Amino acid sequence: MTETRAERMRIPLAADIVQATAEQHGVCVRPFTMEVGDPDTGELQYVAVPCGSTVKSVCGPCARKARALRITQCREGWHLVDEPDFTPDEATTDQKALLELRADLFTAYKQAVAGGQLDEADELREEITKTDEELRQLGMRGRLPSPDAPAKKTVKRSTKRRQDAPDLPRRKIDKRTVGREYAGKYRPSMFVTLTLDTYGRVQEDGTPVNPNTYDYRRAARDAVHFSSLVDRWWQNLRRVVGWDVQYFATVEPQKRAAPHLHTAIRGSVPHELLKLVTAATYHQVWWPNHNERVYQDGEPLPVWDSQLAAFVDPTTRVPLRSWDQAVHEVDEPAHVVRYGVQVHSKGLLGGTEEAGRHIGYLTNVPHEVDR
Ligand SMILES: [Zn+2]
Repeated sequence: MTETRAERMRIPLAADIVQATAEQHGVCVRPFTMEVGDPDTGELQYVAVPCGSTVKSVCGPCARKARALRITQCREGWHLVDEPDFTPDEATTDQKALLELRADLFTAYKQAVAGGQLDEADELREEITKTDEELRQLGMRGRLPSPDAPAKKTVKRSTKRRQDAPDLPRRKIDKRTVGREYAGKYRPSMFVTLTLDTYGRVQEDGTPVNPNTYDYRRAARDAVHFSSLVDRWWQNLRRVVGWDVQYFATVEPQKRAAPHLHTAIRGSVPHELLKLVTAATYHQVWWPNHNERVYQDGEPLPVWDSQLAAFVDPTTRVPLRSWDQAVHEVDEPAHVVRYGVQVHSKGLLGGTEEAGRHIGYLTNVPHEVDR
């Protein structure tokens, strides 16, 4: 039987059928294949591992699963009434023996390096790596000191608070993460939104009213360093309230493309205090000044010199200043990030319809990133 072209075009592609079937059954549509070897028999097996994407347009089933997990984590964690138990398990005999072995190897390695026995040092370093792998397989968490930790000198920076930021009261941080109870039964938690400053007026669609005066540079730098600013905010908040505040948060772009933070905080914090912490929080970027372009478009760019292992000027062949050198010479921050004045906060009770709605905000992915 011969088919017309139109008939052939209507036959679904094999890949589409596979994807549609996977979607229907709620399994990953683009699993990775992993080769797994049995160390005893040497037999190889191929195992499909879900892609784990959180983006719906990449993999619907994985994104749905990830979202369901986030919703559960947020709901269970937000209004927790008992302190979670994080006591680590006792180290096992095997773990202790391996750690001792590692310490011995580490000492031998340092001696070999100091004595210039480089072949032996190489072997020891390999042994240390293997020991670390075994320790990790035995469930050890955290990082052990690397045998070749660079003896890097960090540049001393002034830790003095900026004069243009309000001071914050400081308390010792209790080991507590659960909020207080009020009237013997209410234990409210907070929903807080933090926004960056204005860079000039914007129109309904988020584009600047006046592109000539809009501060694009500050907008871009604030966005790049936003996560550091958020880290600072949590540190400051914990010091001010005096307990180990826990949270669940999401960062979203606003229409004007500036990131903002939505967060569910366990326990309640007065709005005035949140405002104070927000006004007093800043992050200083100790980067070399990057206001001026040195090499212009259309002109020759620096080239890599493999002998010098550095980029060199295209005409003079002089090596460019390295990042470390440039950072060393910095004496004032290249940029300071702060929040805008708007702080939205709201107290919510666990299990209410309102709390559920806010969990929805925190676990939605309204702006899908293109692949
Ligand atoms: Zn997937």
